Amino acid sequence: MVVAVDGPAGTGKSSVSRGLARALHARYLDTGAMYRIATLAVLRAGVDPADSDAVDSVAATANISVSHDPGEDRSYLDGEDVSSEIRGDEVTRAVSAVSSVPAVRGRLVELQRALVDGPGGVVVEGRDIGTVVLPDADLKVFLTASAETRARRRNDQNVAAGQPDDYAGVLADVRRRDHLDSTRAVSPLRAASDAVVVDTSEMTESEVIDHLLDLVKQRSEASR
Ligand code: C5P
Repeated sequence: MVVAVDGPAGTGKSSVSRGLARALHARYLDTGAMYRIATLAVLRAGVDPADSDAVDSVAATANISVSHDPGEDRSYLDGEDVSSEIRGDEVTRAVSAVSSVPAVRGRLVELQRALVDGPGGVVVEGRDIGTVVLPDADLKVFLTASAETRARRRNDQNVAAGQPDDYAGVLADVRRRDHLDSTRAVSPLRAASDAVVVDTSEMTESEVIDHLLDLVKQRSEASR
């Protein structure tokens, strides 16, 4: 069973996708982490994220890898563990520019398809999984929630991680990334026509996971 989970930042996509993969004993692929690793490589090379050609030459030589175990959140750039660094502000600010470069997307999509093509089930999360990366996924889910709900959740996570309480700043960043991700020319963020749209604004994480497990069950019964 291949499950594609797409949606904007702050919908609970990562926690839900990991929880679903754990419950299904499936592998998990965080494609956002891959774009973040490419962005870190660009920043470390001192390249302007807006310079598409230079960005692509860096992405072409960077060795990008991520763990497949939903219980582990590990990301590597050229063999170095960069799991914390890719979640920092600098990478978060530049990632939309890097991920809008068509050649970078082409490389990462190819890598993502190769990683998915292994034994057993897999849950893949991102922005374009159901529309571009895996159009034949067995189940496509598109998670949504209001920008305010998503900013509140992200700000709570930041505060819990020891960062300053800045709801207004986080809300502005959520809106900025939504706009950039949904208006870019290549693979804009949108629900696939055959995706199940789930609004998580009023749902807890475990309610969303249970709902998705029901959908997986229905799909596998229907395909028997
Ligand atoms: O999921 P996460 O917030 O870590 O993703 C970081 C960024 O990577 C997104 O804002 C988006 O610009 C990009 N991304 C993408 N396509 C994906 C996954 C992430 O363009 N499949």
